[in-house]
Amino acid sequence: AKKVGIGQAVTFSDAMICSLRERVSMLSSLKQDLDRHRLYLVYQPQIHLKSGQLIGVEALVRWMDESGQMISPAVFIELAEQSGLIVKLGEWVLRRALYDCAELCRTRPGFRVAVNVSPLQFQQLDFVDQVKAGLHEQGLEGQHLDLEITESVSMSYAEETIEKFNALRALGVTISIDDFGTGFSSLSYLERLHVDCLKIDRSFVDKLTTSTSGYRIAQTILTLGQRLNMRVLAEGIETDAQLNELVKLNCDEGQGYLIARPMKIDALHEWIAVHAE
Ligand code: C2E
Ligand code: CA
Ligand code: CA
Ligand code: CA
Repeated sequence: AKKVGIGQAVTFSDAMICSLRERVSMLSSLKQDLDRHRLYLVYQPQIHLKSGQLIGVEALVRWMDESGQMISPAVFIELAEQSGLIVKLGEWVLRRALYDCAELCRTRPGFRVAVNVSPLQFQQLDFVDQVKAGLHEQGLEGQHLDLEITESVSMSYAEETIEKFNALRALGVTISIDDFGTGFSSLSYLERLHVDCLKIDRSFVDKLTTSTSGYRIAQTILTLGQRLNMRVLAEGIETDAQLNELVKLNCDEGQGYLIARPMKIDALHEWIAVHAE
């Protein structure tokens, strides 16, 4: 990590734009494009692995900059997180996702959208109010919303986090731990938080059929989820072999390129008409 500006730590990974000047200019175009509604969401179906039934979708944000270049969310989400812009960006994602969800609910009443929530966004004092307002605006019950949170969020600020989780649960909103297995969770804490779902990180699904350790980690997460009464969803399913193995391991839910790629809302409506009726 390098120190930049007033004590702000910035980590440079290979995938990232390395010069500070480029980062500053990227941030200012991101701000502008957010204001001009140039960002958009794509949705990836989440299904019941055994029945193939559609459960809902995960919303993923996309940004094409002014020159027409797609910027990876891995890059701009991190930039937004470090600059604080993520609060506004995350709020936009939530409202947009709920708007699209409400439309989908007209033909599929049980439909659910999963929205990624970054640590800084979750820590906002009015986060729960934001969620409430977003649901209310669309006339949606909380059951239609799942929030994907990483282990780092769930582990910090214990008391506030528990209060927020409880308030969200009271609304009917469910909570999933994203990228499960890559961070550090205390198991007793997981139970106290009443997490609804563990998402097995893609890296383990990737190794499921090729390495013993990958297989055992996936198996362990599934057992843990079953014992603690949580749903388990496997992400990044790319092959039939992985899918078959997950079904054998009694994994309930999954998503991945094998099932469907993330797609724009119009394509999603078509996908649902073809695959999910
Ligand atoms: P994530 O939440 O773990 O999302 C899953 C990523 O895996 C997505 O990448 C998705 O497109 C990709 N993926 C899905 N299925 C497969 C597969 O079968 N194989 C492979 N190789 N990849 C698959 P994406 O859209 O580039 O997003 C990257 C990360 O950026 C996300 O990881 C999430 O952490 C973050 N992100 C994306 N949208 C948002 C958002 O609206 N808010 C926040 N806070 N973070 C977001
Ligand atoms: Ca996610
Ligand atoms: Ca994930
Ligand atoms: Ca991830």
